Amino acid sequence: RPSRHLSDIESKLQVSFEFFPPKTDVMEERFWDSIEKLAPLAPRFVSVTYGAGGTTRERTLRMVSQIKKQTGVDAAAHLTCVGASRDEVDAVVRGYKEAGISRIVALRGDPPEGVGKPFVPHPEGYRNAAELVEGIRRVGDFDISVAAYPEKHPQSPDWQADIDNLKRKLDAGATRAITQMFFDNDDYLRYVERVRAAGIDAPIVPGIQPIHSFKQISGFAARCGASIPDWVAARFEGLEEDPETHALVASAVAAEQVIELLDEGVTEFHFYTLNRSNLVLALARLLGRRPS
Ligand code: FAD
Repeated sequence: RPSRHLSDIESKLQVSFEFFPPKTDVMEERFWDSIEKLAPLAPRFVSVTYGAGGTTRERTLRMVSQIKKQTGVDAAAHLTCVGASRDEVDAVVRGYKEAGISRIVALRGDPPEGVGKPFVPHPEGYRNAAELVEGIRRVGDFDISVAAYPEKHPQSPDWQADIDNLKRKLDAGATRAITQMFFDNDDYLRYVERVRAAGIDAPIVPGIQPIHSFKQISGFAARCGASIPDWVAARFEGLEEDPETHALVASAVAAEQVIELLDEGVTEFHFYTLNRSNLVLALARLLGRRPS
């Protein structure tokens, strides 16, 4: 089992951590505390999301610029094209460039009414993530990541359309895809098989979402079309009032997931932190990552 020989894998292992821009002073304190704890694990990058409809534009830029200055860790800014013209989006990209940000996670985004509603592009806007990637490329030479969906994007009519869309994004100039959260590794492994069969060889980095709170994460998962298998749900049943056992189960479930992926030969991982460090810190350690 490769996970028993971590020293062989260590040089290949790449981790990245995703945060969201904090809204209040208290949240900002937790954000920095988590960044400070995770930065010594030498992530490839730390990324900061972009709120629906650009509502966090300034905060995303401020956090990403500050992460680089404060910790020396490379930071990636997410960007969506919801509700903005191409000129407005390009101006944000130029702002990233001027601030010395060299990595972007490029996304279409969702309509303000919610994920399930049809996406209507701004009349002068980019219509999807592939067009956004092309636009970013015109502004500068960024390292671009895009999104991938092991259970298919809820709006993709079929697998062919989904994989064709991924291919367009990569052909437009993205370097890698990061997946939506998933809880059944078979979904991810089957997806990677489909992607490779379509001739795509870019890294498909699994997005790992530790289940800090089953209630909260199952809500997120339902909204973005990720399913939680019954056997995962059963492990958390009845633990709403027992945070200690819940936390232990959450770490065991996530540990099982990453170790299994490692044993399948996966060496790149993206963690959705929700601005908390404890579980992710433990998982990165299980992958052999230690503070440097
Ligand atoms: P796209 O790749 O453009 O595709 C979305 C759908 O449209 C697909 O079903 C595709 O088949 C279809 N489609 C695309 N182009 C065409 C075409 N030409 N013709 C027909 N159909 C087409 N959201 C945020 O608001 N902020 C964030 O910071 C954020 N970060 C994320 C990070 C990751 C790693 C992931 C996985 C998701 C993130 N999201 C974020 C959510 C994302 O915005 C949504 O999942 C959104 O619904 C789709 O974005 P996309 O970039 O995958 O879209």
